[in-house]
Amino acid sequence: MDVLKLGVIKEAGPGERRVAVTPESVGRLSAAGFLVLVERDAGAAAWYDDGAYEEAGAELVTNEELDARAEVLVTVAAPPLDRIRAGQVVVGMTADPATVRELDAMGVTALSLDRLPRTLSSAQPMDALTSQANVAGYKAAVLAADTYERFLPMLVTAAGTARPARVLVLGAGVAGLQAMSTARRLGAVVTGYDVRPNARQEVTSVGASFLELTSVRAMEEEDGYATDMTAEQEVVEQQALADQISRHDIVITTARVPGHSPPLLVTGTAVKAMRRGSVVVDLASSELGGNVEDSLPEQTVVTENGVTIIGAGNLPATMPAAASTAYSHNITAVLLHLVRDGRLTIDPDDPIQAAIVVARPERREGQS
Ligand code: NAD
Repeated sequence: MDVLKLGVIKEAGPGERRVAVTPESVGRLSAAGFLVLVERDAGAAAWYDDGAYEEAGAELVTNEELDARAEVLVTVAAPPLDRIRAGQVVVGMTADPATVRELDAMGVTALSLDRLPRTLSSAQPMDALTSQANVAGYKAAVLAADTYERFLPMLVTAAGTARPARVLVLGAGVAGLQAMSTARRLGAVVTGYDVRPNARQEVTSVGASFLELTSVRAMEEEDGYATDMTAEQEVVEQQALADQISRHDIVITTARVPGHSPPLLVTGTAVKAMRRGSVVVDLASSELGGNVEDSLPEQTVVTENGVTIIGAGNLPATMPAAASTAYSHNITAVLLHLVRDGRLTIDPDDPIQAAIVVARPERREGQS
């Protein structure tokens, strides 16, 4: 039986420390018929050394060898296009339309985990958006706690009583709920808000209070996602939130609408009304904007009134060991789903594959 050569690339994006496959998954992939080729140092930044991969049965290779031999390439972020060749299969988080167009034009088959049908129970082990959002939400709460420089829980000591920190989390998807429960565990008084009415029950189930904004119209939901707001609705929401924001010590924003720029929830005026020493962490921050008017991607700024604003759009990369472990489980589940009798097969009738295959040469030629 031919072995399929699976290449694990060393990620090269700025600040990217994750690796797509960890040594723990190598055994399962080998058993399924893959020869796992690992670019030297691919896992080093996530604390997985080359020796651990070798012990698990992987073959260590240089970047040139990887590029020449890998038939299936696994990545975390979008793959570097100059390292890909026609005929390869690329599996990663590649759904950005410009990347998809380029991969398609190059004759590459690309599978993107960010297109997974998330409500399908058989797809849940493959759900990298969820696994990475969990890491982001956890880290956002820990980062905010560290930056706040006061206690999160109420502490009664001989030196006085510290009141508990008040934390507001905007957006109650996977990251938001994880941020809420982590802040709760650290002892803060936590409030959560989402424009989707169904989020209320999830917010209260993690021990946070749900913020009701009567002036904001509840959004229709499409498959559990919020839909885009009009500019007028966004202003109403910003004004309703501004009052609440100034009453909190820490604000963590996680709101996104798939396919659109993130909604602006925290205006500069709202930040100006916050107390000195307050902290805002914007998980939606990217080149496309963010939830916080003054946040800059991957930068920390301190405003004139002493509020620290952290642009934190790629927090999973800052917890690479945990994030890679989870991602590796997701990607292994995808690969095992695609392998039949030691061969990688793309079945367009399979609902998971129909969703995640974003580029495919045969499809371009009209064959299926
Ligand atoms: P996301 O990252 O796309 O967005 C985060 C949150 O921001 C969402 O809850 C969204 O409603 C909220 N939001 C958007 N615009 C907003 C606004 N203007 N004001 C306030 N909040 C706003 O979300 P996600 O974490 O990917 O989750 C999206 C949905 O998918 C949720 O309903 C989640 O429960 C669901 N989900 C289901 C499964 C599953 O069934 N297995 C797995 C993961 C997620």
